[in-house]
Amino acid sequence: MQIHRPEGEPIPERIHGLADLAYNLWWSWHPEVRILFKQINPHAWRESIHNPVKMLQDIPDSFFRKVASNPEYLRRYDISMDRFSRYMKNRNGWFSEKYPSSRALTIAYFSAEYGLHHSLPFYAGGLGFLAGDHLKECSDLGVPMVAVGFMYSQGYLHQRILPDGWQDNFWENLDRDAAPVSRVMAPSGEQLVIEVPHITPPIYVAVWRADIGKVPLFLLDTDIPENSQANRAIASRLYTGDSEQRLVQEIVLGIGGRKVLSELGVDFSAVHLNEGHSAFALLERIRELVEDGLSFSDALYRVRGTSIFTTHTPLAAGNDIFPLSLIDKYFSSYYPALGTDRLEFFELGRNPTDPPGGFNMAACAFKLTAFHNAVSRRHCGVTRQLWRQLWPDLPEKKTPIDYITNGVHIPTWLNPRMERLLSTAISPVCPHWQYEHDNPELWELVDEIPDKELWALHLWLKAKLFNRIRERKRQRWASLLKEPINLVADGLMLNPSVLTIGFARRFSAYKRADLIFHDTDRLKRIVTNRWLPVQIVFAGKAHPNDTEGKEILRRIYRHALDPGFGGRIAFVEDYGEQTAQYLVHGVDVWLNNPLPPMEACGTSGMKAALNGVLNCSIRDGWWLEAYNGKNGWAFGGESWSPERNAQDAAELYYLLEKEIIPLYYSASLDSIPHGWVQMMKESIKSIAPVFSSRRMVKEYVDRYYPSLLTCAETGFSVCPI
Ligand SMILES: *Cc1c(COP(=O)(O)O)cnc(C)c1O
Repeated sequence: MQIHRPEGEPIPERIHGLADLAYNLWWSWHPEVRILFKQINPHAWRESIHNPVKMLQDIPDSFFRKVASNPEYLRRYDISMDRFSRYMKNRNGWFSEKYPSSRALTIAYFSAEYGLHHSLPFYAGGLGFLAGDHLKECSDLGVPMVAVGFMYSQGYLHQRILPDGWQDNFWENLDRDAAPVSRVMAPSGEQLVIEVPHITPPIYVAVWRADIGKVPLFLLDTDIPENSQANRAIASRLYTGDSEQRLVQEIVLGIGGRKVLSELGVDFSAVHLNEGHSAFALLERIRELVEDGLSFSDALYRVRGTSIFTTHTPLAAGNDIFPLSLIDKYFSSYYPALGTDRLEFFELGRNPTDPPGGFNMAACAFKLTAFHNAVSRRHCGVTRQLWRQLWPDLPEKKTPIDYITNGVHIPTWLNPRMERLLSTAISPVCPHWQYEHDNPELWELVDEIPDKELWALHLWLKAKLFNRIRERKRQRWASLLKEPINLVADGLMLNPSVLTIGFARRFSAYKRADLIFHDTDRLKRIVTNRWLPVQIVFAGKAHPNDTEGKEILRRIYRHALDPGFGGRIAFVEDYGEQTAQYLVHGVDVWLNNPLPPMEACGTSGMKAALNGVLNCSIRDGWWLEAYNGKNGWAFGGESWSPERNAQDAAELYYLLEKEIIPLYYSASLDSIPHGWVQMMKESIKSIAPVFSSRRMVKEYVDRYYPSLLTCAETGFSVCPI
């Protein structure tokens, strides 16, 4: 790869491989490579917001000359380059050992968002991070995969909190040429641009590529001069615009995405839909088979047999539903191309429990795939209830929807210092334990770590979080000139010796960010206790159209301004991947209190747990599977009632007053709260291996791969579907 350096000389030959490292997000989950960039110049690294492409473009030649003549730097550089090239070439590993003959079966993964790193703002929340972690893990395990998504030129909203607590949204244009993505070129030497097939008026899509280790992610960009002004905006932002724009987005992702893969000659034999937004990709596969001479129903059968659908939504209304008039507008020339007619097409998107409804993308995804899964055990039950009418002849227990509980990519979310501390206990027994970090037995060794060391590291991570909050505020202070009281609410008074609760997630109403304020006076007494104080740090964005979410945020911010809370409540602006990293490493307790059963799974609590942050969570989503009585706290009821909020809040206060606060402040003479540290260890060892994306991806492969293979290899004559 080349780094374009408008104002400088090319990178010296000796360290030229830095460009290859910069353009593969592999660096993002390898701390020793990140240090290689940081060592060139820590300020430049910080200023680039940890984006090596931008940094290597901007810095003066002298910085390169300096490290290129430093033997210690070169030694580390050579080690990293060697590791990178061995990683990229390695075709052995868990997958190829287990499925030696199945190289040919590449999976095409489609998702509307990807959370990979903050330099690529292609995510809004958990769904995106799940997709990003999935790709990283497939790369690590050697599962053959290509991925398709959007180049959102403006990403998701940025958030500024106005002095009265109202969320102000703004967008920033991504400088694509300074991001870790590259243009996909056509034979003409220009960037590849395709036309979305069978859609009128025409839509053009330029193609970019991000490399996630061994997995290429192709990104579709509609913001190009070939398109009308309206079409340029199709994929500029996540989840905005009206129903029609959403429909066109999903046409571009599915049909355009499929076209891009065929244009590039990318072979794949199976498709994985991460949520229903991309279901049209399967229609396009059907259309191709029909073009080759199959009937619509034969083509549908084949496509189903090689397609997986992961659903994330516990509400039928949470899925996209398009008016049939809009479907007619865009698809009328597509019906005959599929070898079908309008009514049969509408049938694909019909939700049987909502007869007059429009075209439901989740229904469509269920009907076009043979393999379906929810994302936690609880979510599976809810999903079966929602969709069992798609299989009216089967009893509910036989409804063909499984679950594979989500997990997080350990190298991405485990703090590097924490990894080193864990290694001191695990490496003597298993030197390359990182390659089998889904083995729970290894994690038992966490008990060997001295309490003193784990506690010292935890306090260091906590101080790092508060320093980061202050430093960010300092940087924006001059431009914003808020009142001093706002700086209290923004977190400048946080104290590392005080028990700290973190709550950070999207501000959707069902997540009940303000539940803990249900009894304001009681909470005031808790947080301002003279001897056993508590502080709470909030972060999260409300969707631009979500007035209710913005109201909740404003209420919380006003509490943070209220002197009655003694400066113990803070709200950190503009939650994203980077802030998430600091928070899940550095608070003491991770609070989660959605309204059951709305949290299909939840993943931020997993990230917290593996860093020794204790979960205090409502009984919903993943926590129902993870909580074992000694690795955190569970509270709240599982069924809805009018007193739900009051009861859940009361249970939370009770837990805080009777268990959490006393345990935290129970330090013995050596100043270490051994009971708390014991619980941290229990949390790390019981949660990290099980709620890892390694366990998750292995489960996807083991569950579905043999059937997908049978279908593909037998020409669908003995498909087990
Ligand atoms: C992990 C993560 C999420 C998802 O967290 P949930 O617990 O599922 O709400 C959202 N945003 C960011 C930035 C994350 O890192």
